[in-house]
Amino acid sequence: MKTILICLVIILIILVFILMNKNETFKPLSAKYPQQHYFDNNATTFIYDDRVMKEITDNLNVANPSNILHQLGQESKKKLDESREIVAKDLNVNPSEIYFTGCATESNNIIISDIVNNWMLHNKGMATVLTSNIEHGSIYHVLDNLKMNNRLNIVRVKVDTDKTSKYYGSVNPEDVKEAIENNDNVILMTFMFVNNETGAINPIKEIGFLAKQYNIFFHCDATQAIPKMIIHPYDYNINAMSFSGHKLHAPKGVGVLYIQGRCSMLNKTTQEICSQFKTNSQEMGIRGGTENVSFIAGLSKALQIVHEDRDKKNEIMKAKKDYIIQQLEYHGCEVIKPRKSVNNTILVILKGISCCNKTFAKELSNKYGISVGTSSACLTSNEKSHVMEAMCVKDCFAEKVIRISMSDYNTEDDVRYLVNSIIELLRKERKTPEFNDNTVAAVN
Ligand code: PLP
Repeated sequence: MKTILICLVIILIILVFILMNKNETFKPLSAKYPQQHYFDNNATTFIYDDRVMKEITDNLNVANPSNILHQLGQESKKKLDESREIVAKDLNVNPSEIYFTGCATESNNIIISDIVNNWMLHNKGMATVLTSNIEHGSIYHVLDNLKMNNRLNIVRVKVDTDKTSKYYGSVNPEDVKEAIENNDNVILMTFMFVNNETGAINPIKEIGFLAKQYNIFFHCDATQAIPKMIIHPYDYNINAMSFSGHKLHAPKGVGVLYIQGRCSMLNKTTQEICSQFKTNSQEMGIRGGTENVSFIAGLSKALQIVHEDRDKKNEIMKAKKDYIIQQLEYHGCEVIKPRKSVNNTILVILKGISCCNKTFAKELSNKYGISVGTSSACLTSNEKSHVMEAMCVKDCFAEKVIRISMSDYNTEDDVRYLVNSIIELLRKERKTPEFNDNTVAAVN
């Protein structure tokens, strides 16, 4: 009996030791910041999963994957190849079509500038690029930069602001079709899959169909979409697609660019457009610099994890979203609701508050430990967001907007705490006790 007891105690000590060691390698956010409730996941996410952290740390101290003459270089290259295969499998494409970059901004820049510059090199006259008026700044900036050569016509298709339309809040394919037919030499269409502020989902299948029909290269910024849905680019006629690791619980500083068959599957015109990529040696010539094997391995693991049971996770997220919307609407807030949107994003107009959104968000953080995003900043700083502008949100309401963006790791308790805290703060910031603003629509 005594021996059994001693054995049990030893086993218990070993178990406690193993568990303690496990926690030592990685502490989740709740352990690091026990008082924090994070709802700004469209800005960036935290790494919560030990499996991702293990990939990162295991591959931090490795040889250069280009130096395959020695064993250590070969090992590093093997990890890089494996990671590429994992990402390719997730996208249902060939590993040779996957390029690792530093971020989604870089992926967007590489593909857009290469396509435009190479067209300019081989052709005379004007070219047109179609995009929307709610794209991320990284798309706007690269296009504005390219426009400087005076031969580029950029057409921004407006999102549908008709609340009765089935495309409300996203791009209407009819408008894309019209833009294609009304402009000469459309060489590229670049449309985001999911908007980072409103969560609106663009009808990418319909847009891809038009791209194929009119033989136009189609790039899609899927940075906000990939963490919430599994996307096979072939199914959408997407020729190139960008996303980044830090939106899906992988590290910051690593991104992905998918390019279809290095354009070999496309017809001759399109092949000519993208036949002259930069000649850096790494990443099959399109992106120079020694690959960040550690973060790439972390990204590929995080991608696998985020897509495990995705449908079920989306359902769980939907219930949380519905609860937040129902509670906040009941308390006099207006939620901007595109007809089709992802389940993690809720854009709320805090009607009746006397302060601006930045002050409200700061107070949520300082007093309650809650992190949310703001869309537009206070209008005194002249920073109305182009997305709010595109959605026709009235100026007086644009500075009252906060963005709640969840991840799979926000618990029900977290969500209840968020809602109760916002309601408490609303009561404090609504100076007029007779507040009754429900009837005034904030969105035109
Ligand atoms: N595209 C979209 C839709 C985004 O939301 C973001 C980041 O917020 C980016 C691109 C840029 O991502 P990264 O920070 O990886 O460059």
